[in-house]
Amino acid sequence: MIAYIEPYFLDNESDASSVLTVTGRSSDGVSESLNIQGEIICGASAADIAGKDFGGMNCVKPLAVVRPVGPEDIAAAVRAALSSDKLTVAARGNGHSINGQATAEGGLVVDMRSTAENHFEVGFLTGDGTAFVDVSGGALWETVLKRCVSEYGLAPRSWTDYLGLTVGGTLSNAGVSGQAFRYGPQTENVTELDVVTGNGDVVTCSEVENSELFFSVLGGLGQFGIITRARVLLQPAPDMVRWIRIVYAEFDEFTRDAEWLVSQKDDSSFDYVEGFVFVNGDDPVNGWPTVPLHPDHDFDPTRLPKSSGSVLYCLELALHYRDSDSNSSVDKRVERLIGRLRFDEELRFEVDLPYLDFLLRVKRSEELAKVNGTWETPHPWLNLFVSKRDIGEFDQKVFKELVKNGVGGPMLVYPLLRSRWDDRTSVVLPEGEIFYIVALLRFVPPGAKASSVDKLVAQNQEIVQWCVKNGIDFKLYLPHYKSREEWIRHFGNRWSRFVDRKAMFDPMAILSPGQKVFNRAL
Ligand code: FAD
Repeated sequence: MIAYIEPYFLDNESDASSVLTVTGRSSDGVSESLNIQGEIICGASAADIAGKDFGGMNCVKPLAVVRPVGPEDIAAAVRAALSSDKLTVAARGNGHSINGQATAEGGLVVDMRSTAENHFEVGFLTGDGTAFVDVSGGALWETVLKRCVSEYGLAPRSWTDYLGLTVGGTLSNAGVSGQAFRYGPQTENVTELDVVTGNGDVVTCSEVENSELFFSVLGGLGQFGIITRARVLLQPAPDMVRWIRIVYAEFDEFTRDAEWLVSQKDDSSFDYVEGFVFVNGDDPVNGWPTVPLHPDHDFDPTRLPKSSGSVLYCLELALHYRDSDSNSSVDKRVERLIGRLRFDEELRFEVDLPYLDFLLRVKRSEELAKVNGTWETPHPWLNLFVSKRDIGEFDQKVFKELVKNGVGGPMLVYPLLRSRWDDRTSVVLPEGEIFYIVALLRFVPPGAKASSVDKLVAQNQEIVQWCVKNGIDFKLYLPHYKSREEWIRHFGNRWSRFVDRKAMFDPMAILSPGQKVFNRAL
């Protein structure tokens, strides 16, 4: 099927300058028809599909949503934009950004989910024989997991907590979870990509082939190319996981144990290390009840030291094992590691569960949030990387003061190792070997007033401003800035490299306009 952008007239006549017509000629100078095999959706339906994201705080009107069948359609969309005066193109993965990063006001949104099934092939790297899977940039990680495990007994090594995200969407940022201390973020676990650049070229790239493009695109905020295929490294999938939570009253004891665990040599630590802050009280959303892993578990606050403050800390750990491993051998491996840690035995919670259930654990929270309405309400989230040097000061100000009553959702904090991140990618990090990811995952009750969401956004800004003023060594993760100055500060001494890469791979600034890093060149 050959589809064309149909005559489409925006509600607001003053926007009519960006109208594409059947012939592809438009008053904004588009000279080529968008001649693709996939589908093109215009008007209110396009806004319904791609006008909003998970953050729910921005609403834009795209000109059209393009549902490509493959890279040639995507390249055609980019070329149509190149030949126009002002069209832009945003790849949209699963639209789970917070601040409109996957949107394109008046532009073309490429719905990558229509390409989800384009690739699925397992192979082995020449050399060390490591298994990999070729998957579509538009595939959901959840689907990749299920197919790899059920068809091959294999699984990717590095994850995000939630798997309803696309491969291309997380690779454009980093993709971080409790495995990243060992394997690095997801961007460290791909060896080859197919990319449609902002020049409209379809290019295969890797560490050795078109390497500048490969490293630009990884963590590149969608600025350099649209990932249509990724080669993802695999490992044998375990059958089971022992999932453990232990509680700390003191931040320095929590960080000392967490840092010790992530600094152990490969295979001599847990397979997953994360942590979170929670309120020292019985609030069902922010407090003690959020810690136990099973309805039979009971959080006994009388076990807490008298000196406990307004917030407490929880280390979350997981150990992989096989069905054939005896209980006692699993217990032994756990005790060898956990025996070194300082926490109260009575505030230890653990369950054994199948590997898939563990990796899909956030899906259960999604289902609950959908029932109670908080999945659809705005999500003014804040994600940062904070250096080990400054995480104590950050705890004092932010956790113990600004958000001491909770954020209506998880407040994650756990250490990562910089040496696991290749500095040739476009991601920027704080200095020092150990830094912390901090995630304030705010959920807002249905019916909350817009002004209360504004207050949460303002609190996020206050935190960022406090970090800047106090010289905290930090970077926003999933960054969102509005001014050029802020982006320059974000990238620091990597800004000129980012600009050079843009000039090479998307000189007209067609791609991912919703990130607001560059303006479309005329
Ligand atoms: P989108 O929001 O659709 O797109 C994100 C950006 O990438 C946009 O700029 C878009 O243009 C670009 N893009 C999308 N697809 C492509 C492509 N194929 N090629 C090039 N550019 C592309 N992150 C973590 O690291 N760890 C977590 O544990 C984690 N948990 C999360 C849990 C939830 C519930 C949510 C909502 C988000 C979470 N995130 C996490 C953040 C998430 O990784 C990012 O927001 C990610 O970008 C979302 O993926 P997506 O497919 O929805 O991308």
